[in-house]
Amino acid sequence: MVIVLKNQATKKQIDELINWLTRYDVKPNLVEGVHSRIIGLIGDTTAVDIESVQAKEIVEAVKRVQEPYKNANRRFHPEDTVIDVRGRKIGGGTLTVIAGPCSVETEEQTIKTAIAVKEAGATMLRGGAFKPRTSPYAFQGLGREGIEILRKAREETGLPIVTEIMDLSDIDLFDDVDIIQVGARNSQNFTLLKALGRCDKPVLLKRGLSGTLQELLMSAEYIMSEGNSKVILCERGIRTYETATRNVLDLASVPLLHQKTHLPVTVDPSHATGIASLIEPCALGAVAVGCDALEIEVHIDPPHAWSDGAQSLTPAQFAATMDKLRAMAEFCGRPIEK
Ligand code: PEP
Ligand code: MN
Repeated sequence: MVIVLKNQATKKQIDELINWLTRYDVKPNLVEGVHSRIIGLIGDTTAVDIESVQAKEIVEAVKRVQEPYKNANRRFHPEDTVIDVRGRKIGGGTLTVIAGPCSVETEEQTIKTAIAVKEAGATMLRGGAFKPRTSPYAFQGLGREGIEILRKAREETGLPIVTEIMDLSDIDLFDDVDIIQVGARNSQNFTLLKALGRCDKPVLLKRGLSGTLQELLMSAEYIMSEGNSKVILCERGIRTYETATRNVLDLASVPLLHQKTHLPVTVDPSHATGIASLIEPCALGAVAVGCDALEIEVHIDPPHAWSDGAQSLTPAQFAATMDKLRAMAEFCGRPIEK
């Protein structure tokens, strides 16, 4: 971190600032040039509160030269993180395909979908039991019963289950879930993130509705700083001025996140686009830019889905998409796990 001092700063004020900075685990280093003076902070600056420094009377500007996240930072952990989920791996050179309905509606719908996506080659099952809906009058999910149905679908197919937590008070219901999803709306629910940091379960963390990549990484840092390093990031589109698609899929985020972090990166083309016909091309693009996993919504009868039917593939469409994904994944040297 570099602190640029105002010209009028006196020696006494600078000494006071340097003294104040010793509260952090850093070494302040004053550099006096002809026209300006700066203090370079050497060491781990993640805990330094940039706004408090900025607020000092003699400080002109503060610049971070190191990212404010440590656990998620590739700089301190060069190897890719590979997350084991019931013997299947996320990250480390394969492509994981998580597929299933937006919402768990009935046992029959969920199990039929699970069997179909497994046959098509999906490696994990998704399904929402707690649904974050824009309207309080829309279907809110089956809750506990939904998780029970997902467990039955796992028993039937062997596919690990991925489902979203919305409220910390439900955490006990997730004991037997394989991956806990944190949705876009809860991406900065720091209390929830910290609690998930204290459990030993993989967390699929989605990018916030208008979240920057740095915010996503700081949310991952919340989980990791509490001890849970099994975090899987998810690009699911961000809100911009464009209304033609539900969100705008930021494909560049995938290689950029890979540069910045060792955590695996998932792409969700369903929520990113909101349009079923865009899922396949966007999923192919996501594989081409190096995603470690995809999360795709599939419904046995999309026109009658209780949520997100317009962005759900039928099992037949999903199977056709999987054929192309398989070829693309092979071509990119990141084959789909069997
Ligand atoms: C979901 O995956 O069911 C979901 C609600 O997605 P998001 O949080 O990305 O909107
Ligand atoms: Mn959905």
